[in-house]
Amino acid sequence: MLGHSGCGAVSAAVDVFLNPSEYLALATNRTVRGILDQLMIVVHASARRLQQAFGDSVASRPGYRQALVEMAVVTNAAFTAHSIQRAIREAAAASLTTLYGVYLLDRCSVWAPRLGSDDWIGLADARADVESFARLGAAVAGSSRMVQLLNSDR
Ligand SMILES: [Zn+2]
Repeated sequence: MLGHSGCGAVSAAVDVFLNPSEYLALATNRTVRGILDQLMIVVHASARRLQQAFGDSVASRPGYRQALVEMAVVTNAAFTAHSIQRAIREAAAASLTTLYGVYLLDRCSVWAPRLGSDDWIGLADARADVESFARLGAAVAGSSRMVQLLNSDR
């Protein structure tokens, strides 16, 4: 599962999250609405993670929108990989492994958070257990990339 930085679909979901009235303009397009509705839960979870890591004032940081987009991009890739990995495990196909990451357009490299390591370059193993998936979310929120994004006003 490879997401990418600056994703337009995720950005649209974040913009609707930040300004719900924008949803009305998109609501007539069923395809777009279907994609947005799926992403919205990821955006909500990402916003909550950032809030837990940085406090309620995080939404007023200059790079909040961009950080939320990038947090949602990686969460969406990790969550989708996590879901696939669980389905594979249930099908008892233990030899198959799901990997995920985010292609960073500005750096031409793949970034993927992982627990127990500071080296976040390249694809990472999907987490099949819910507990470590939750810990991963906290690690992403507190990562140097998120701090950098929150402080930038690009
Ligand atoms: Zn995209």
